[in-house]
Amino acid sequence: AAMRKARIKRTKTVCTYCGVGCSFEVWTKDRQILKIEPQEHSPVNGISTCVKGKWGWDYVNSEERLTKPLIRQGDEFIEATWEEALTLIASKLTDIKEQHGPDSIGYIASSKCSNEENYLFQKFARAIMGTNNVDNCSRYCQSPATAGLLRTVGIGGDSGSIKDIEKSELVIIIGANPAESHPVLATRIKRAHKLHGHKLIVADLRENELAERANLFIHPKPSTDLIWLSAVTKYMLEQGWEDKQFLKNRVNGLESYLHSLDKFTLDYAEEMTGITKEELIKLATMIHEAKSACILWAMGVTQHKGATDTSTAISNLLLITGNYGRPGTGAYPLRGHNNVQGACDFGTMPSWFPGYEPIQDEQVRKRYEKAWGVSLPKDPGMDNHQMLEGVKKGKLKSLYLFGEDMAFVDSNVNFVDTMLEDLEFFVVQDLFFSKTAQFADVILPAAPSLEKDGTFVNTERRIQRFYQVLEPLGDSKPDWLIFQELANHLGANWSYQHPSEIMDEAASLAGYFAGVSYERLEGFNSQIWPVAKDGTDTPILFEEGFAFEDGKARLIPLEWTPPFEAGDEYDLHLNNGRLLEHFHEGNMTYKSEGLTHKVPHPWLEVSPELARERGIEDGSLVRLTSPYGHVKVRAIVTERVTGNELYLTMNTREDEEAVNRLTSSYHDTVTHTPNYKEMSVKMEVLEEK
Ligand code: SF4
Repeated sequence: AAMRKARIKRTKTVCTYCGVGCSFEVWTKDRQILKIEPQEHSPVNGISTCVKGKWGWDYVNSEERLTKPLIRQGDEFIEATWEEALTLIASKLTDIKEQHGPDSIGYIASSKCSNEENYLFQKFARAIMGTNNVDNCSRYCQSPATAGLLRTVGIGGDSGSIKDIEKSELVIIIGANPAESHPVLATRIKRAHKLHGHKLIVADLRENELAERANLFIHPKPSTDLIWLSAVTKYMLEQGWEDKQFLKNRVNGLESYLHSLDKFTLDYAEEMTGITKEELIKLATMIHEAKSACILWAMGVTQHKGATDTSTAISNLLLITGNYGRPGTGAYPLRGHNNVQGACDFGTMPSWFPGYEPIQDEQVRKRYEKAWGVSLPKDPGMDNHQMLEGVKKGKLKSLYLFGEDMAFVDSNVNFVDTMLEDLEFFVVQDLFFSKTAQFADVILPAAPSLEKDGTFVNTERRIQRFYQVLEPLGDSKPDWLIFQELANHLGANWSYQHPSEIMDEAASLAGYFAGVSYERLEGFNSQIWPVAKDGTDTPILFEEGFAFEDGKARLIPLEWTPPFEAGDEYDLHLNNGRLLEHFHEGNMTYKSEGLTHKVPHPWLEVSPELARERGIEDGSLVRLTSPYGHVKVRAIVTERVTGNELYLTMNTREDEEAVNRLTSSYHDTVTHTPNYKEMSVKMEVLEEK
């Protein structure tokens, strides 16, 4: 037994699924993953995990892992050596750059990969290839929240820590389903609600698990959040419930903001949103009575045409009521992927260097030019959406994408498929032969987090280390090493020996990470950025001032943007979201026997009244059709949804038809985040059962 035990390795890691950022020890024997053991000193989760963190690791040893580089020959892929694959990529990218210019190539980064890998990828795009055409999947989710917060308070991240949410006397959740999408965070909210009597308000189209427990559940009509948020703010101002001292000392722009509220009366809000005046007054009163309130939101807010403005309306309400800069207050856009926050923080964005410093700022650019020894492009690059539009317009000829399944997760994938087919040269770097990989010219096998060292940033800006447990499978390699080898094939002389050296470089260049180092992050230690040079981190933002030159926040006047209308024929509203057991494209969680056994398929939720009207029962097969495509799915009848509103779980298996066959190419006007949640469909029943 002693010998057996000696072969068991225990290694600290961080979950590769959601943005909560649970950490734990993984027990391994050779390549076998024996168990996941959270530790009391795990800073986010203590001894908790959810089912994905606990059981969702089979994908690491899956037979479907890519283990060799693949090069397209006609309709086939043939195995190649790294040397062959990298030489081919280097020569193709060089040709395309010479022929069409550096901006004819786009680079799509991964929210599943480490900060160091994202840092290196944007350095590759900017310093080696000479373009700012670099983006990540926050474009599909929380970019509008970032933009709304940058406008109003100057930093686009959560304003407090997860522990702080528990301290809040009133938690307001809008368009988010933490019980399934951020489960361990939801457990904390439930505990504060149950044990300490903290209040909870949920605004959603669907009565999710936290809505059932809420002190107040409001159900606005789709896409009307900005209206009720503004009406509640206006009502509070009329009652004299604003925080006068806070507004006087810490906020600019009150006057023009007040004018913009004129039309958001309670009558107007009731008519437009369907929320009664009594409910709106109750909501305002609860905010007024709470000494601290925070607002959490996710895709139910951000995946709309007017999403940046709705995120701004949330921040405006927090500013009017003085709910920033103290424990239990603030804005919490809940990050989806394990490292979507870090991918943005470390610069895989078309307008920002790492740490949100604008690429157009000459001083900042000079700093990077000096450090990297090159001259850098001055203009913002294309985002994900613009890159695909660029293919259509003939401007973008080539894409390099890693750890992202664009042909599954982007909206209107029928359009995406056509654009990917039209590329002259396409590189995909992934663990698996994803839907997107079908369109590639070269596929590079990458290594998952358990096979490399690195750091992730969770939703609360907390940077945590994960450690290599296993050797990369077959010929696969850590993404950072692939970028380094490719850069060197293109004439660079990169010689990072370890991801810690990449972090040291980022820390020396980006002020937010000045005091971040692998030594300080050893084991279960963590740091919440901004981190000063001496290592002091910042769990609560804005205690002193907001992130603008004068230290004052800005109230922003707003207009409501009506949602996309597909036409009368599409008579039902389709909402969509995650389920607890699976994650996004499902190519990791559906490889877990336990999770797949529990939930083998996605489903469509139909209200009892609609089910009666259309003759639908649990298990009926239906076809949903939008102007963009159709999907077949089995229905369940549930009171979670009402009337003509449907809800489709978005995590499908690879062989199933997914929600993005239905979604449109409309998007938030500021950030180009697709309007995934503004979807009208028609439904036909294909068989009774
Ligand atoms: Fe992983 Fe999120 Fe579950 Fe924690 S809550 S174990 S981070 S999926």
